[in-house]
Amino acid sequence: MSESPILAGLQHDAGARPVAARALELVREILPICRSITGNGVRQTLDILSREVPLQRFEIASGTQVFDWEVPPEWNVREAYLIGPDGKRVIDFRRHNLHLLNYSVPVRARMPLAQLRPHLYSLPEHPDWIPYRTSYWREQWGFCLTHRQLEALPEGEYEVVIDSTLAPGSLTYAECRIRGELDDEFLIFTHICHPSLANDNASGMAVAALLAAAMTGCRPRLSYRFVFAPATIGSITWLARNEAAARALRGGLSVGLLGDSAPLTYKRSRRANTEIDNLACAAVREIDAAARVVDFSPYGYDERQFCSPGFDLPFGRLTRSSNGEYAEYHSSADDLELLDLDALVQSIRALARILGRVDLNHRLRNRYPCGEPRLGKRGLFRSTGGKNPLDFEYALLWLLNQADGTHGALDIAAASGLPEALVRQAADTLLQAEMLEYVDGAGIHSLKQDGRYRRGEK
Ligand code: ZN
Repeated sequence: MSESPILAGLQHDAGARPVAARALELVREILPICRSITGNGVRQTLDILSREVPLQRFEIASGTQVFDWEVPPEWNVREAYLIGPDGKRVIDFRRHNLHLLNYSVPVRARMPLAQLRPHLYSLPEHPDWIPYRTSYWREQWGFCLTHRQLEALPEGEYEVVIDSTLAPGSLTYAECRIRGELDDEFLIFTHICHPSLANDNASGMAVAALLAAAMTGCRPRLSYRFVFAPATIGSITWLARNEAAARALRGGLSVGLLGDSAPLTYKRSRRANTEIDNLACAAVREIDAAARVVDFSPYGYDERQFCSPGFDLPFGRLTRSSNGEYAEYHSSADDLELLDLDALVQSIRALARILGRVDLNHRLRNRYPCGEPRLGKRGLFRSTGGKNPLDFEYALLWLLNQADGTHGALDIAAASGLPEALVRQAADTLLQAEMLEYVDGAGIHSLKQDGRYRRGEK
């Protein structure tokens, strides 16, 4: 059988490079925007991404209960600055939006430096960088500045102006859905709440939009949903509003931090060896000899919401650096210079490879799942026995053990380390012997043109 994978062109350097170059242009365009978990910066960013791919926008009202959380008031900023004792603006949000503590409440006040200091944040270990700090869930105000700026502030009276609004409004997120032959859906999530930070996560937003755009030109077997939403509260809001769709997800990936020079890093789902885990581990290792695979932990990005015990989905994460892993993380030094075109090319190739594999991986179910079925009586196992099973016999055992309706031949091959052609051949043998059956789209579509499907029992 020769099926050509979706996004095949993007799996190779020649196809991925122009997309990476376009991603860099997009990053440059969205980088200056002041984003947060709510507000006009998010809408403005989605406007720009919508030029690449049609996005359906959702506005969820402040105060909406989403599981154990509540959608916060909407935050917008007109201006924010500090005027020093000499009457000059020493810090100005217009020069760099990281200067303002994200989600600062409005303030107009005069105070001496000593009273101002607890509201000022700097990075003594990197005296020329502005830190990125947020205060989403506690009413607070503050400014972030370089340590050099902080040390140069003279004693005296300061004027503080933060002209922001925290008011009933909404949380904005967007989706791009690509309908495949089957309703079985795979989800790609990226966070859109970080302001002027290039790798975290203008890189993820740009790549996800361009990947979705590339996919609209494909005819995928599975359906895909790209979700652009703020971190944590955004994914929790999405899950609360799409609970049934979430539970039915085939799998998903949280993507971000795709442009720095660290190796590709795949973080396993909570269940560790699901279909996406097997396929993504293999894909990142094929594309980057230095690739890392890390175990699940309940910290990081939005994978942890999809992997919370109430959902426990087959949901992994693809990044290069992890959160907090590079010096420039959450500071003004996470800028365009940190992004590497070759790294973006490689990230795009990996994502195309993963999605291409997911799309081709027809899931299988063992029809004799209680104990190992007897292969010998069907002529599928040597009667005399040897020291070890032959590779083909080994492939049969792997398939029968893993075919619980959530795995397919491609990811079972990846998990077993056996050659894929051999595992596919063993799968065909077991299908012919009616020991395995296909389950994708069971009960949803009348399966199937090529006759290789069999209706699952549900
Ligand atoms: Zn971050």
